[in-house]
Amino acid sequence: MKCAVCKNGDIINKVIDYQTKIDGNYVLVKNVPVEECNVCGEQFVSYETAIKIEEIIKANNSLLVTLKFLSTIWQDKSLKLIIP
Ligand SMILES: [Zn+2]
Repeated sequence: MKCAVCKNGDIINKVIDYQTKIDGNYVLVKNVPVEECNVCGEQFVSYETAIKIEEIIKANNSLLVTLKFLSTIWQDKSLKLIIP
């Protein structure tokens, strides 16, 4: 399958840590299957995967509280946050 964005690259299956922003909070969902273009790097998430990500985020409301705290630190440029 050819990439719909650059029309040159081939689409390859990959597992990534998916990053998104919800209500100003950064959310990281690990081990998300995506299709990625090997030329332009554009990533495509299937409809089923997008629904699953939404479910995971909804099921982890307590985690979102922690992330909200972290995103506050990230916005303060005078602080450096090191995540091991
Ligand atoms: Zn492409």
